[in-house]
Amino acid sequence: MRSLDTTCCIVGGGPAGMMLGYLLARAGVDIVVLEKHADFFRDFRGDTIHPSTLENFHELGLLDEFLKLPHQELTHIEAQIGDETFPAADFTHLPTRCKFVAFMPQWDFLDFVAEQARKRKTFRLLMETEGLDLLRDGERVTGVRARGPDGEVEIKAPLTVAADGRHSTIRAASGLQVMDFGAPMDVLWLRLSKRPGEKSESFGRAIPGRLIILIDRGDYWQCAFVIAKGTFDEMRKRDIGELHAELARAIPGLSDRIGEIKSWDDAKLLTVAVDRLKQWHLPGLLCIGDAAHAMSPVGGIGINLAIQDAVATANILASSLRKGRLRDQDLAAVQKRRERPARVTQDVQLFIQRRLIRAILKAKRRVPVPFPLKVLRAIPYLRRFPARFVGLGVQPEHVRSRDDRATLRR
Ligand SMILES: Cc1cc2nc3c(=O)[nH]c(=O)nc-3n(C[C@H](O)[C@H](O)[C@H](O)COP(=O)(O)OP(=O)(O)OC[C@H]3O[C@@H](n4cnc5c(N)ncnc54)[C@H](O)[C@@H]3O)c2cc1C
Repeated sequence: MRSLDTTCCIVGGGPAGMMLGYLLARAGVDIVVLEKHADFFRDFRGDTIHPSTLENFHELGLLDEFLKLPHQELTHIEAQIGDETFPAADFTHLPTRCKFVAFMPQWDFLDFVAEQARKRKTFRLLMETEGLDLLRDGERVTGVRARGPDGEVEIKAPLTVAADGRHSTIRAASGLQVMDFGAPMDVLWLRLSKRPGEKSESFGRAIPGRLIILIDRGDYWQCAFVIAKGTFDEMRKRDIGELHAELARAIPGLSDRIGEIKSWDDAKLLTVAVDRLKQWHLPGLLCIGDAAHAMSPVGGIGINLAIQDAVATANILASSLRKGRLRDQDLAAVQKRRERPARVTQDVQLFIQRRLIRAILKAKRRVPVPFPLKVLRAIPYLRRFPARFVGLGVQPEHVRSRDDRATLRR
Protein backbone atom coordinates (compact mmCIF):
# COMPACT_ATOMS: atom_id res chain seq x y z
CA MET A 1 0.00 0.00 0.00
CA ARG A 2 1.23 3.48 -0.89
CA SER A 3 1.96 5.76 2.04
CA LEU A 4 2.15 9.55 2.36
CA ASP A 5 3.33 11.72 5.26
CA THR A 6 1.96 15.16 6.01
CA THR A 7 1.35 17.44 8.99
CA CYS A 8 -2.43 17.63 8.64
CA CYS A 9 -4.73 15.39 6.61
CA ILE A 10 -8.15 16.92 5.95
CA VAL A 11 -10.86 14.52 4.80
CA GLY A 12 -13.51 16.29 2.69
CA GLY A 13 -13.18 19.12 0.18
CA GLY A 14 -16.35 21.04 1.05
CA PRO A 15 -16.45 24.62 2.41
CA ALA A 16 -14.93 23.61 5.78
CA GLY A 17 -12.19 21.36 4.39
CA MET A 18 -11.09 23.56 1.47
CA MET A 19 -11.04 26.73 3.52
CA LEU A 20 -9.06 25.07 6.32
CA GLY A 21 -6.68 23.51 3.80
CA TYR A 22 -6.03 26.87 2.20
CA LEU A 23 -5.56 28.75 5.48
CA LEU A 24 -3.18 26.18 6.99
CA ALA A 25 -1.15 25.83 3.76
CA ARG A 26 -0.94 29.65 3.63
CA ALA A 27 0.41 29.63 7.20
CA GLY A 28 3.19 27.20 6.22
CA VAL A 29 1.65 23.91 7.39
CA ASP A 30 2.02 20.88 5.10
CA ILE A 31 -1.53 19.82 4.15
CA VAL A 32 -3.21 16.99 2.25
CA VAL A 33 -6.94 17.37 1.47
CA LEU A 34 -8.88 14.30 0.31
CA GLU A 35 -12.04 14.75 -1.77
CA LYS A 36 -13.92 11.65 -2.83
CA HIS A 37 -15.44 13.16 -5.97
CA ALA A 38 -13.57 13.93 -9.19
CA ASP A 39 -14.68 17.60 -9.19
CA PHE A 40 -16.73 20.09 -7.18
CA PHE A 41 -19.54 20.07 -9.73
CA ARG A 42 -22.45 18.75 -7.71
CA ASP A 43 -25.92 20.11 -7.16
CA PHE A 44 -26.82 19.86 -3.56
CA ARG A 45 -24.37 22.11 -1.78
CA GLY A 46 -26.23 25.37 -1.15
CA ASP A 47 -25.26 28.50 -3.01
CA THR A 48 -24.90 31.18 -0.37
CA ILE A 49 -21.71 33.07 0.47
CA HIS A 50 -22.30 35.22 3.51
CA PRO A 51 -21.08 38.72 4.40
CA SER A 52 -18.81 37.25 7.11
CA THR A 53 -17.13 34.94 4.57
CA LEU A 54 -16.78 37.88 2.17
CA GLU A 55 -15.16 39.80 5.03
CA ASN A 56 -12.70 36.90 5.47
CA PHE A 57 -11.88 37.14 1.76
CA HIS A 58 -11.20 40.85 2.26
CA GLU A 59 -8.86 40.01 5.16
CA LEU A 60 -7.08 37.55 2.84
CA GLY A 61 -6.80 40.15 0.05
CA LEU A 62 -9.01 38.05 -2.26
CA LEU A 63 -12.34 39.90 -2.20
CA ASP A 64 -12.07 41.85 -5.47
CA GLU A 65 -10.94 38.77 -7.40
CA PHE A 66 -13.70 36.69 -5.84
CA LEU A 67 -16.45 39.17 -6.69
CA LYS A 68 -15.41 39.03 -10.36
CA LEU A 69 -16.99 35.56 -10.49
CA PRO A 70 -20.62 35.61 -11.69
CA HIS A 71 -22.93 36.01 -8.69
CA GLN A 72 -26.09 37.76 -7.52
CA GLU A 73 -26.24 40.09 -4.54
CA LEU A 74 -29.12 39.60 -2.16
CA THR A 75 -29.66 42.63 0.08
CA HIS A 76 -33.04 41.71 1.55
CA ILE A 77 -34.88 38.47 2.34
CA GLU A 78 -38.61 38.19 1.88
CA ALA A 79 -40.88 35.32 2.83
CA GLN A 80 -43.94 34.64 0.71
CA ILE A 81 -46.76 33.01 2.65
CA GLY A 82 -49.69 32.20 0.38
CA ASP A 83 -50.08 35.36 -1.70
CA GLU A 84 -48.67 37.73 0.93
CA THR A 85 -45.06 38.89 1.03
CA PHE A 86 -43.28 39.58 4.32
CA PRO A 87 -39.94 41.43 4.46
CA ALA A 88 -37.78 39.42 6.88
CA ALA A 89 -34.14 40.59 6.78
CA ASP A 90 -32.26 43.70 5.67
CA PHE A 91 -28.51 43.25 5.11
CA THR A 92 -27.81 46.85 4.09
CA HIS A 93 -26.86 47.95 7.64
CA LEU A 94 -24.32 45.22 8.41
CA PRO A 95 -20.95 46.46 9.69
CA THR A 96 -19.13 44.65 6.85
CA ARG A 97 -17.69 45.67 3.49
CA CYS A 98 -20.27 43.59 1.64
CA LYS A 99 -23.78 44.31 2.79
CA PHE A 100 -25.31 41.39 0.91
CA VAL A 101 -25.34 37.62 0.63
CA ALA A 102 -23.65 36.53 -2.60
CA PHE A 103 -25.44 33.75 -4.49
CA MET A 104 -22.95 31.69 -6.42
CA PRO A 105 -22.91 27.99 -7.38
CA GLN A 106 -20.83 26.32 -4.69
CA TRP A 107 -18.57 24.63 -7.25
CA ASP A 108 -17.39 28.12 -8.37
CA PHE A 109 -16.64 29.02 -4.74
CA LEU A 110 -14.73 25.77 -4.10
CA ASP A 111 -12.82 26.03 -7.40
CA PHE A 112 -11.79 29.55 -6.38
CA VAL A 113 -10.50 28.44 -2.97
CA ALA A 114 -8.72 25.42 -4.56
CA GLU A 115 -7.05 27.72 -7.09
CA GLN A 116 -5.75 29.98 -4.30
CA ALA A 117 -4.58 26.99 -2.25
CA ARG A 118 -2.73 25.40 -5.19
CA LYS A 119 -0.52 28.50 -5.32
CA ARG A 120 1.06 27.22 -2.09
CA LYS A 121 3.81 24.57 -2.07
CA THR A 122 2.45 23.27 1.21
CA PHE A 123 -0.93 22.25 -0.27
CA ARG A 124 -1.90 18.96 -1.91
CA LEU A 125 -5.45 18.15 -3.00
CA LEU A 126 -6.13 14.50 -3.83
CA MET A 127 -9.35 14.30 -5.82
CA GLU A 128 -11.23 11.01 -6.28
CA THR A 129 -9.73 9.90 -2.98
CA GLU A 130 -12.13 8.68 -0.34
CA GLY A 131 -11.24 8.46 3.35
CA LEU A 132 -12.22 4.96 4.47
CA ASP A 133 -10.98 4.54 8.02
CA LEU A 134 -8.71 5.97 10.68
CA LEU A 135 -5.18 4.77 11.39
CA ARG A 136 -4.49 4.44 15.10
CA ASP A 137 -1.66 3.88 17.48
CA GLY A 138 -3.40 2.91 20.73
CA GLU A 139 -5.79 5.76 21.64
CA ARG A 140 -4.17 8.18 19.20
CA VAL A 141 -5.35 8.75 15.64
CA THR A 142 -2.31 8.77 13.36
CA GLY A 143 -3.89 9.31 9.94
CA VAL A 144 -6.31 7.91 7.40
CA ARG A 145 -6.64 4.90 5.13
CA ALA A 146 -8.07 6.04 1.82
CA ARG A 147 -8.87 4.75 -1.66
CA GLY A 148 -7.76 6.79 -4.67
CA PRO A 149 -7.61 6.28 -8.43
CA ASP A 150 -4.44 4.14 -8.06
CA GLY A 151 -5.70 1.98 -5.19
CA GLU A 152 -5.43 2.25 -1.42
CA VAL A 153 -3.17 4.76 0.27
CA GLU A 154 -2.26 5.47 3.91
CA ILE A 155 -1.87 9.13 4.83
CA LYS A 156 0.00 9.53 8.11
CA ALA A 157 -0.33 12.81 9.99
CA PRO A 158 -0.10 14.16 13.57
CA LEU A 159 -3.53 15.72 12.92
CA THR A 160 -6.50 14.37 10.93
CA VAL A 161 -9.48 16.69 10.40
CA ALA A 162 -12.89 15.23 9.55
CA ALA A 163 -14.58 17.78 7.27
CA ASP A 164 -16.51 15.16 5.30
CA GLY A 165 -19.99 16.51 5.93
CA ARG A 166 -23.21 15.32 7.48
CA HIS A 167 -22.71 11.65 6.52
CA SER A 168 -19.11 11.69 7.76
CA THR A 169 -17.31 8.36 7.42
CA ILE A 170 -14.46 9.58 9.60
CA ARG A 171 -16.65 10.66 12.50
CA ALA A 172 -18.42 7.24 12.30
CA ALA A 173 -15.01 5.53 12.41
CA SER A 174 -14.01 7.68 15.41
CA GLY A 175 -16.82 6.37 17.64
CA LEU A 176 -17.47 9.92 18.93
CA GLN A 177 -20.95 10.28 20.42
CA VAL A 178 -23.61 12.04 18.29
CA MET A 179 -26.69 13.87 19.60
CA ASP A 180 -29.42 13.60 16.94
CA PHE A 181 -32.06 16.38 17.01
CA GLY A 182 -34.13 15.20 14.01
CA ALA A 183 -35.80 17.16 11.21
CA PRO A 184 -39.42 17.12 10.04
CA MET A 185 -38.49 17.47 6.35
CA ASP A 186 -36.44 16.32 3.40
CA VAL A 187 -35.85 18.23 0.18
CA LEU A 188 -36.52 17.27 -3.44
CA TRP A 189 -33.98 18.90 -5.73
CA LEU A 190 -35.38 19.70 -9.19
CA ARG A 191 -34.47 21.78 -12.17
CA LEU A 192 -36.73 23.91 -14.42
CA SER A 193 -35.61 26.07 -17.33
CA LYS A 194 -35.54 29.85 -16.98
CA ARG A 195 -36.82 32.05 -19.77
CA PRO A 196 -35.05 35.23 -20.91
CA GLY A 197 -36.46 38.30 -19.17
CA GLU A 198 -37.79 36.38 -16.17
CA LYS A 199 -37.25 38.09 -12.83
CA SER A 200 -33.78 37.27 -11.67
CA GLU A 201 -34.03 36.70 -7.96
CA SER A 202 -34.01 33.67 -5.73
CA PHE A 203 -37.17 33.39 -3.65
CA GLY A 204 -39.23 31.08 -1.44
CA ARG A 205 -42.98 30.42 -1.20
CA ALA A 206 -45.09 28.60 1.36
CA ILE A 207 -48.56 27.25 0.62
CA PRO A 208 -50.60 24.74 2.67
CA GLY A 209 -48.61 21.51 2.87
CA ARG A 210 -45.69 22.73 0.76
CA LEU A 211 -42.67 25.02 0.80
CA ILE A 212 -40.54 25.72 -2.24
CA ILE A 213 -37.34 27.73 -2.69
CA LEU A 214 -36.24 28.77 -6.18
CA ILE A 215 -32.59 29.55 -6.80
CA ASP A 216 -31.70 31.49 -9.93
CA ARG A 217 -28.82 29.70 -11.70
CA GLY A 218 -28.73 31.91 -14.81
CA ASP A 219 -30.35 29.72 -17.45
CA TYR A 220 -32.35 27.52 -15.09
CA TRP A 221 -34.21 27.53 -11.76
CA GLN A 222 -32.89 25.18 -9.12
CA CYS A 223 -35.93 24.21 -7.05
CA ALA A 224 -35.77 22.97 -3.48
CA PHE A 225 -39.17 21.42 -2.84
CA VAL A 226 -39.64 20.69 0.87
CA ILE A 227 -41.55 17.50 1.70
CA ALA A 228 -42.39 15.79 5.01
CA LYS A 229 -39.55 13.53 6.19
CA GLY A 230 -39.67 9.96 4.97
CA THR A 231 -42.54 10.51 2.46
CA PHE A 232 -40.50 10.29 -0.76
CA ASP A 233 -40.73 6.50 -1.19
CA GLU A 234 -44.51 6.74 -0.95
CA MET A 235 -44.59 9.70 -3.41
CA ARG A 236 -42.45 7.78 -5.92
CA LYS A 237 -45.04 5.02 -6.18
CA ARG A 238 -47.53 7.52 -7.62
CA ASP A 239 -47.72 8.91 -11.14
CA ILE A 240 -45.30 11.77 -11.88
CA GLY A 241 -48.39 13.80 -12.84
CA GLU A 242 -49.13 14.18 -9.12
CA LEU A 243 -45.81 15.92 -8.59
CA HIS A 244 -46.56 18.12 -11.61
CA ALA A 245 -49.89 19.11 -10.06
CA GLU A 246 -48.27 19.93 -6.71
CA LEU A 247 -45.57 22.03 -8.35
CA ALA A 248 -48.13 23.89 -10.46
CA ARG A 249 -49.96 24.75 -7.23
CA ALA A 250 -46.76 25.91 -5.48
CA ILE A 251 -45.26 27.87 -8.40
CA PRO A 252 -48.09 28.71 -10.81
CA GLY A 253 -45.81 31.16 -12.66
CA LEU A 254 -43.66 28.25 -13.90
CA SER A 255 -46.47 25.76 -14.63
CA ASP A 256 -45.82 25.98 -18.41
CA ARG A 257 -42.56 24.01 -18.04
CA ILE A 258 -43.30 21.55 -15.29
CA GLY A 259 -43.36 18.74 -17.91
CA GLU A 260 -39.54 19.10 -18.07
CA ILE A 261 -39.56 16.83 -15.01
CA LYS A 262 -40.19 13.68 -17.01
CA SER A 263 -39.89 11.03 -14.31
CA TRP A 264 -39.06 10.57 -10.63
CA ASP A 265 -35.42 10.13 -11.70
CA ASP A 266 -35.37 13.91 -12.34
CA ALA A 267 -36.12 14.53 -8.65
CA LYS A 268 -33.14 14.00 -6.35
CA LEU A 269 -33.84 13.39 -2.66
CA LEU A 270 -31.69 15.36 -0.20
CA THR A 271 -32.10 14.11 3.33
CA VAL A 272 -32.00 16.73 6.06
CA ALA A 273 -30.26 15.98 9.36
CA VAL A 274 -29.57 18.09 12.44
CA ASP A 275 -27.08 16.65 14.91
CA ARG A 276 -23.99 17.54 16.94
CA LEU A 277 -21.08 15.70 18.46
CA LYS A 278 -20.73 15.79 22.24
CA GLN A 279 -16.97 15.91 21.91
CA TRP A 280 -15.44 17.07 18.62
CA HIS A 281 -11.97 15.60 19.07
CA LEU A 282 -9.80 12.64 20.03
CA PRO A 283 -6.02 12.65 20.36
CA GLY A 284 -4.89 13.33 16.75
CA LEU A 285 -8.42 13.92 15.37
CA LEU A 286 -10.71 16.96 15.09
CA CYS A 287 -14.17 17.20 13.49
CA ILE A 288 -15.43 20.50 12.02
CA GLY A 289 -18.30 21.76 9.85
CA ASP A 290 -21.22 19.40 9.30
CA ALA A 291 -19.06 16.47 10.46
CA ALA A 292 -19.17 18.05 13.95
CA HIS A 293 -22.67 19.59 13.70
CA ALA A 294 -24.90 18.71 10.72
CA MET A 295 -26.94 21.81 9.85
CA SER A 296 -30.48 22.07 8.55
CA PRO A 297 -30.91 24.10 5.32
CA VAL A 298 -33.14 26.52 7.33
CA GLY A 299 -31.78 30.04 6.92
CA GLY A 300 -29.04 28.87 4.52
CA ILE A 301 -26.36 29.25 7.19
CA GLY A 302 -24.53 25.90 7.33
CA ILE A 303 -21.86 26.93 4.83
CA ASN A 304 -21.11 30.07 6.80
CA LEU A 305 -20.76 28.09 10.01
CA ALA A 306 -18.49 25.53 8.32
CA ILE A 307 -16.23 28.31 7.03
CA GLN A 308 -16.16 30.06 10.40
CA ASP A 309 -15.12 26.73 11.97
CA ALA A 310 -12.26 26.55 9.46
CA VAL A 311 -11.11 30.11 10.16
CA ALA A 312 -11.15 29.54 13.94
CA THR A 313 -9.36 26.18 13.58
CA ALA A 314 -6.58 27.75 11.53
CA ASN A 315 -6.30 30.65 14.01
CA ILE A 316 -5.93 28.27 16.95
CA LEU A 317 -3.83 25.47 15.42
CA ALA A 318 -1.63 26.93 12.65
CA SER A 319 1.28 27.99 14.81
CA SER A 320 1.50 24.81 16.91
CA LEU A 321 1.13 22.59 13.83
CA ARG A 322 3.92 24.46 12.03
CA LYS A 323 6.22 24.14 15.02
CA GLY A 324 5.30 20.43 15.53
CA ARG A 325 3.95 21.20 19.01
CA LEU A 326 0.28 20.31 18.70
CA ARG A 327 -1.28 19.40 22.06
CA ASP A 328 -4.59 17.66 22.71
CA GLN A 329 -5.85 20.72 24.57
CA ASP A 330 -5.43 22.78 21.36
CA LEU A 331 -8.12 20.59 19.78
CA ALA A 332 -10.35 21.10 22.82
CA ALA A 333 -9.82 24.86 22.39
CA VAL A 334 -11.35 24.67 18.89
CA GLN A 335 -14.47 22.98 20.24
CA LYS A 336 -14.65 25.49 23.09
CA ARG A 337 -14.56 28.36 20.62
CA ARG A 338 -17.03 26.97 18.09
CA GLU A 339 -19.51 24.92 20.12
CA ARG A 340 -21.65 27.83 21.28
CA PRO A 341 -22.20 29.30 17.77
CA ALA A 342 -23.13 25.81 16.49
CA ARG A 343 -25.49 25.17 19.40
CA VAL A 344 -27.26 28.55 19.24
CA THR A 345 -27.61 28.36 15.44
CA GLN A 346 -29.02 24.84 15.60
CA ASP A 347 -31.42 25.86 18.40
CA VAL A 348 -32.82 28.60 16.15
CA GLN A 349 -33.04 26.21 13.17
CA LEU A 350 -34.82 23.61 15.30
CA PHE A 351 -37.26 26.25 16.60
CA ILE A 352 -38.10 27.29 13.00
CA GLN A 353 -38.37 23.65 11.89
CA ARG A 354 -40.77 22.81 14.73
CA ARG A 355 -42.85 26.00 14.72
CA LEU A 356 -42.92 27.06 11.08
CA ILE A 357 -41.89 24.26 8.70
CA ARG A 358 -43.90 21.58 10.51
CA ALA A 359 -46.94 23.92 10.56
CA ILE A 360 -46.59 24.60 6.81
CA LEU A 361 -46.25 20.90 5.99
CA LYS A 362 -49.29 20.02 8.11
CA ALA A 363 -51.49 22.94 7.01
CA LYS A 364 -54.54 21.85 5.01
CA ARG A 365 -56.18 25.17 4.11
CA ARG A 366 -54.23 28.22 5.24
CA VAL A 367 -50.58 28.62 6.26
CA PRO A 368 -50.56 30.44 9.61
CA VAL A 369 -48.44 33.60 9.45
CA PRO A 370 -45.87 33.44 12.27
CA PHE A 371 -46.08 36.34 14.71
CA PRO A 372 -42.39 37.39 14.25
CA LEU A 373 -43.03 37.92 10.51
CA LYS A 374 -45.90 40.27 11.34
CA VAL A 375 -43.64 42.23 13.70
CA LEU A 376 -40.86 42.43 11.10
CA ARG A 377 -43.32 43.75 8.55
CA ALA A 378 -44.51 46.43 10.97
CA ILE A 379 -41.10 47.58 12.25
CA PRO A 380 -38.42 47.78 9.50
CA TYR A 381 -35.59 48.46 12.02
CA LEU A 382 -35.98 44.96 13.48
CA ARG A 383 -35.10 43.39 10.10
CA ARG A 384 -31.45 44.16 10.91
CA PHE A 385 -31.40 41.42 13.56
CA PRO A 386 -32.25 38.41 11.36
CA ALA A 387 -29.81 39.90 8.82
CA ARG A 388 -27.06 39.83 11.44
CA PHE A 389 -27.88 36.26 12.39
CA VAL A 390 -27.90 35.01 8.79
CA GLY A 391 -25.17 37.28 7.44
CA LEU A 392 -22.60 37.21 10.24
CA GLY A 393 -23.62 34.26 12.37
CA VAL A 394 -23.43 34.04 16.14
CA GLN A 395 -19.69 34.51 16.42
CA PRO A 396 -18.02 35.76 13.24
CA GLU A 397 -14.35 34.82 12.99
CA HIS A 398 -11.52 36.92 11.57
CA VAL A 399 -8.40 35.57 9.86
CA ARG A 400 -5.50 35.76 12.33
CA SER A 401 -3.35 32.91 10.99
CA ARG A 402 -0.22 34.20 9.29
CA ASP A 403 0.59 34.43 5.59
CA ASP A 404 3.92 32.67 5.00
CA ARG A 405 4.94 34.12 1.63
CA ALA A 406 7.74 31.54 1.36
CA THR A 407 5.05 28.91 0.63
CA LEU A 408 4.06 30.65 -2.64
CA ARG A 409 4.99 28.72 -5.79
CA ARG A 410 7.08 30.68 -8.27
C1 LIG B 1 -30.86 20.38 1.02
C2 LIG B 1 -29.85 21.25 1.72
C3 LIG B 1 -29.67 22.57 1.26
C4 LIG B 1 -28.76 23.42 1.92
N1 LIG B 1 -28.63 24.71 1.48
C5 LIG B 1 -27.79 25.54 2.13
C6 LIG B 1 -27.62 26.91 1.70
O1 LIG B 1 -28.22 27.38 0.73
N2 LIG B 1 -26.74 27.69 2.39
C7 LIG B 1 -26.03 27.20 3.46
O2 LIG B 1 -25.24 27.96 4.06
N3 LIG B 1 -26.16 25.93 3.86
C8 LIG B 1 -27.01 25.09 3.22
N4 LIG B 1 -27.14 23.79 3.66
C9 LIG B 1 -26.25 23.31 4.73
C10 LIG B 1 -24.85 23.13 4.11
O3 LIG B 1 -24.94 22.33 2.93
C11 LIG B 1 -23.85 22.48 5.06
O4 LIG B 1 -24.00 22.99 6.36
C12 LIG B 1 -22.41 22.75 4.57
O5 LIG B 1 -22.28 22.26 3.25
C13 LIG B 1 -21.38 22.10 5.48
O6 LIG B 1 -20.10 22.21 4.88
P1 LIG B 1 -18.99 21.09 5.14
O7 LIG B 1 -17.78 21.52 4.41
O8 LIG B 1 -18.89 20.82 6.59
O9 LIG B 1 -19.59 19.75 4.51
P2 LIG B 1 -20.01 19.41 3.01
O10 LIG B 1 -20.41 20.62 2.27
O11 LIG B 1 -20.98 18.30 3.10
O12 LIG B 1 -18.66 18.88 2.35
C14 LIG B 1 -18.15 17.62 2.65
C15 LIG B 1 -17.23 17.21 1.52
O13 LIG B 1 -16.59 15.99 1.88
C16 LIG B 1 -16.64 15.10 0.78
N5 LIG B 1 -16.59 13.76 1.37
C17 LIG B 1 -17.57 13.12 2.04
N6 LIG B 1 -17.14 11.94 2.51
C18 LIG B 1 -15.85 11.83 2.14
C19 LIG B 1 -14.85 10.84 2.34
N7 LIG B 1 -15.10 9.72 3.05
N8 LIG B 1 -13.61 11.03 1.82
C20 LIG B 1 -13.35 12.16 1.11
N9 LIG B 1 -14.26 13.14 0.88
C21 LIG B 1 -15.48 12.98 1.41
C22 LIG B 1 -17.92 15.43 0.06
O14 LIG B 1 -17.87 15.02 -1.29
C23 LIG B 1 -17.94 16.96 0.20
O15 LIG B 1 -17.24 17.59 -0.83
C24 LIG B 1 -28.03 22.93 3.01
C25 LIG B 1 -28.19 21.60 3.47
C26 LIG B 1 -29.10 20.78 2.84
C27 LIG B 1 -29.29 19.37 3.34
